[in-house]
Amino acid sequence: MLFDTHCHLDDPRLLEELDAVLDRAREAGVRRITTIGCANDVASMLSAVELARQHPGRISATVGVHPHDARHLDDALFDALRDAGTDPSVVAIGETGLDFHYDHSPRPAQEEAFRRQIAIAKELKKPLVIHTRAAPKDTLRILREEQAKDAGGIIHCFSEDAPFAAAALDLGFVSSFSGIVTFKKAVAVQEAAVKQPADALLIETDAPYLAPIPRRGKRNEPAYVAYTAARIAELRGQDPEALAHSTYENALRIFGIQE
Ligand SMILES: [Zn+2]
Ligand SMILES: [Zn+2]
Repeated sequence: MLFDTHCHLDDPRLLEELDAVLDRAREAGVRRITTIGCANDVASMLSAVELARQHPGRISATVGVHPHDARHLDDALFDALRDAGTDPSVVAIGETGLDFHYDHSPRPAQEEAFRRQIAIAKELKKPLVIHTRAAPKDTLRILREEQAKDAGGIIHCFSEDAPFAAAALDLGFVSSFSGIVTFKKAVAVQEAAVKQPADALLIETDAPYLAPIPRRGKRNEPAYVAYTAARIAELRGQDPEALAHSTYENALRIFGIQE
């Protein structure tokens, strides 16, 4: 029983064979999936909500503006985001945050979009899904300045180190580990996964990106979260069933899903 807490089912590479993708996920033990409704226009933001509505009990959605698209966040998109965020199938706001690696949007625009989405999450009392790349200090600073702890949430696709995970947890943010943790060179990420308290650890694919070993380089999909779970259990010296159970329960708790 696994929960893929972060993937992009509305990506054409997954959407074109969604039924098969969902069947393979089920066969791999993936019971629930959160799909990320991130876009620079309202229509694509809502496509994630639509997927969740069509698959109750199986798919839940988020809505947000990715840091790459922060330059597109105007008042109209902001209002649409807030409206969509009230939908019961929407379990979080995001992904939002800072990406100073690609810098697809100017940094001040990323910061502003980040702060505005923290405000929406607090207003709607929903958790945040945080994307942070090459900006650990600034991400933590903004979470602190905006008192994001009131919303709490998830550091998704964890790619920092154990001290960052601890600092984020102090601010109310658990860490979600992707296929990166299976990569041989990702020693700092593996160490963080080992040190992370069991009740603050989630797993995700970030599909269609970042397939774990042994699928590295291929198109990722929710079924493959099983490889990531197995690797984390091995690193932690934990029973895979126990890890599956705790990460599943953590996801339900953080997303506020009742079963
Ligand atoms: Zn991301
Ligand atoms: Zn993502």
